[in-house]
Amino acid sequence: MLTCKELVARSSDYLDGELPLGEKLLARQHLLFCKSCRRFIKQMRLTQATIKALPEAPVDDIDEIVQRMTDAQRTQDKP
Ligand SMILES: [Zn+2]
Repeated sequence: MLTCKELVARSSDYLDGELPLGEKLLARQHLLFCKSCRRFIKQMRLTQATIKALPEAPVDDIDEIVQRMTDAQRTQDKP
């Protein structure tokens, strides 16, 4: 079983689908049992989606990106 730290270290490869199958299964197994890592992965996925949705965003405009992420999170949390 992976530790949370190991899961976090693999998270970007996991989200990119670049983990080897065995590692991916370990990550999935961890996520089944670990609520906080599920939340972390969800947040990471949202961040990636936000960044991809904003290809022209200047890197120093972080406040607006954070604001958009917060808005997107709020929308996603609605039932
Ligand atoms: Zn964890």
